[in-house]
Amino acid sequence: MRELRKDPIISRWVIISSERGRRPKENQREDEDATVVESTEDCPFEMGRESSTPPEVYAIRERGTAPDTPGWQVRVTPNKYPALSPEGEPTLHEHGLFVSINGVGIHEMVIETPDHSRQLDAQPVERIALILGVYQQRIRTLRQDPRVAHVLVFRNQGTGAGASLHHPHSQIVATPIIPNRIEQELGGSLTYWQRTGHCIYCDLTEQVRRESEFVVHQRDGVLAFCPYASIFPYEVWIVPEEHAADFADADDRLLVVVARVLKTVLLKQREALGEFSYNLVLHTVPAPQAVEREFPSASTHYHWHIELYPRLTKPAGCEWGAGVFINPVPPEEAARHLRKLDVAAAMAGDANAREHPDSSPTNE
Ligand SMILES: [Zn+2]
Ligand SMILES: [Zn+2]
Ligand SMILES: [Zn+2]
Repeated sequence: MRELRKDPIISRWVIISSERGRRPKENQREDEDATVVESTEDCPFEMGRESSTPPEVYAIRERGTAPDTPGWQVRVTPNKYPALSPEGEPTLHEHGLFVSINGVGIHEMVIETPDHSRQLDAQPVERIALILGVYQQRIRTLRQDPRVAHVLVFRNQGTGAGASLHHPHSQIVATPIIPNRIEQELGGSLTYWQRTGHCIYCDLTEQVRRESEFVVHQRDGVLAFCPYASIFPYEVWIVPEEHAADFADADDRLLVVVARVLKTVLLKQREALGEFSYNLVLHTVPAPQAVEREFPSASTHYHWHIELYPRLTKPAGCEWGAGVFINPVPPEEAARHLRKLDVAAAMAGDANAREHPDSSPTNE
């Protein structure tokens, strides 16, 4: 069964997906140690093992190489165990207080590199920018599907963040509804805009820059900071300083800056925290048809950004039961710590590891 159900009291959508439970290694209880595919031997994302994933839908690959063969740099395939089904039409069902939509949606994996052990923070900036560009391509393509209301890109790194595969990858989930978190941000930014005529993210970055105590890193128009009301210790947001609602519109120059800032922040977090698990989420505007329907002014009051959640604490009763997170590290302290860490040497290592892949996108 795959179904989206809406909580009749707080209007929160949940995906009921029994197929997900059949995944070989990922069907864990939270109180058990997670099993992770660590070795290249069992890894379905290795170069040369393209047939162990569903056929690719997009790839950056060497000229002249065929889809689903070696020669790729970044490869996107449907998730073998999707939370939502790509077949069918989303239909709203109402039965008394019960509201549901059949579980139609698209769930993809972005295999970020052929290198099994080179996690995102160890990638050259050019490669990170390339991966961000692949996100843009998929967001644009998936939004053209009239069934899609929103496209979420995220990354689970480490067992503490829910990852079951070690090989560097991100995920993309296109849903027929706007997820609650995005809807809350759209609603909150709309209210602020109606009151002040300003984008709250623009005002927020302005205040953070002016007061500087929350700043982690700033470079060429991209700001990284610990949010004032961080829910996780060492949480960081990365926000372009110039107003832009849609990540898919960011040009190549901006993607390289974002890649550089993202790498810097991840290296600083690693320096501060050691080996750590984290989630990365990309928040951008929903698909045009959903924007038109629900938030027609979103391009004015919404502003895309990346959120990074180090998973050092485990949400428990207070978090799940009240939605109130307990964060043991004041964000200004985390910011001070991260800000003063010098990762220049690790960043400079990039110059030696620079890649110039003779590659071009395929399957578009
Ligand atoms: Zn691998
Ligand atoms: Zn803005
Ligand atoms: Zn956000």
